[in-house]
Amino acid sequence: MGDPRADIPGTDRLLHEPRLAEAAGRLGRAVVLDAIRTAQDAARSGALLPGDVADAAVAALPPLASSMRPVVNATGVIVHTNLGRAPLSDAARDAVVAASGTTDVELDLGTGRRGRRGAAATAALLDAVPEAEAAHVVNNNAAALLLCALAFAVGREIVVSRGELVEIGDGFRIPDLLESAGARLREVGTTNRTSVADFADAVGDQTAFVLRVHPSNYTVTGFVGTPTVAGLAGLGVPLVVDVGSGLLRPHPLLPREPDAAGALREGADLVTASGDKLLGGPQAGLLLGRAQLVERLRRHPSARAVRVDKLTLAALEATLRGPATPTVRALEAHVDELRRRATRIVETLRGKGTDAATVPCESVVGGGGAPGVRLPSVAVALPERYAAALRTGADPVQGRVEDGHCLLDVRTVRPDQDELLSAAVLACG
Ligand SMILES: *Cc1c(COP(=O)(O)O)cnc(C)c1O
Repeated sequence: MGDPRADIPGTDRLLHEPRLAEAAGRLGRAVVLDAIRTAQDAARSGALLPGDVADAAVAALPPLASSMRPVVNATGVIVHTNLGRAPLSDAARDAVVAASGTTDVELDLGTGRRGRRGAAATAALLDAVPEAEAAHVVNNNAAALLLCALAFAVGREIVVSRGELVEIGDGFRIPDLLESAGARLREVGTTNRTSVADFADAVGDQTAFVLRVHPSNYTVTGFVGTPTVAGLAGLGVPLVVDVGSGLLRPHPLLPREPDAAGALREGADLVTASGDKLLGGPQAGLLLGRAQLVERLRRHPSARAVRVDKLTLAALEATLRGPATPTVRALEAHVDELRRRATRIVETLRGKGTDAATVPCESVVGGGGAPGVRLPSVAVALPERYAAALRTGADPVQGRVEDGHCLLDVRTVRPDQDELLSAAVLACG
């Protein structure tokens, strides 16, 4: 008898196998070669019969040419940084697909002349926040702050409270960001208390602007005090307010979360915010405020380095004009409805012999928004070992481990993912 390994089909032959040839056209040759080599290696080690190599290579093909995979967010953290923050609405996703080819992002189809890039997204922003005279969109909120520093404060001072020197995450700090642009920080007040007088004493001919930063990922309680935005608006220098979360108008469930419209009404000259936190849109930095300041930002040479691409502009406009985002729906979901969904999932799982139960729990906003807010929710509780199994499954689900249980908080799961969630749990056996 000959060595069965001699019968392992060669790479060229496999590349001509119809299913693998089709996949090479769709996913690229390198991705298919990877799957072929994995299957050939398995056959060489004896784990696979030579006749099964083609099927195994097909089975090993990834669904997409990119490796980023959808993950069901069952963490109970509505805006989860590690899961890509806000999930796009269907309207925004469709807009991204439509804009992904050649598109009229800088073409006026009526006249055939060059059109202003981002005009539709900015118009949608101004409709949502009529308190702003003008708006501009950049890569993210950090870029919005950087551009403010570059345009107004190189070699000059930004006056900021010691209670608002915020580390945003992954070791990045707003004060370092501003200094990296060549601005000097003039810190005033203390960690827990800062007054209008502290700011007034520091403002002088070196001042570029006063900066108010929302402490969006921590709370300081006790003997605390911060001036209102209105209090800082009368100091004779521009006031820039970083509201953080991208809430454009007040939300009744988040009474302490600052919003862009409110800050402008109180007298802020510029507001900066993120597009992919509570606004529920794509990663973007929103700049709203006085026309003259916005125009200086828009025309600054560095603006080009922080501009957003057409996909972001399309998604942002659709987020602003379209129906309620998944983020807002998760925030506003009523606990009775969450209980109904969790109960239905648990019934399905128990019907198939899985040890599952509903438990009350609490969700949070997360992702740099509304620190301290806890929303009543309901979770599907499973034995703890499910946490790792679900994360590494074919349709990954990220839950959280609490008191020896794997909890799947349904508030952050899209209602149309409930069946997928049940199937993923059942697949863990
Ligand atoms: C999140 C956050 C930022 C950074 O925003 P990105 O969009 O992630 O760049 C800046 N300031 C505040 C107050 C934030 O909450």
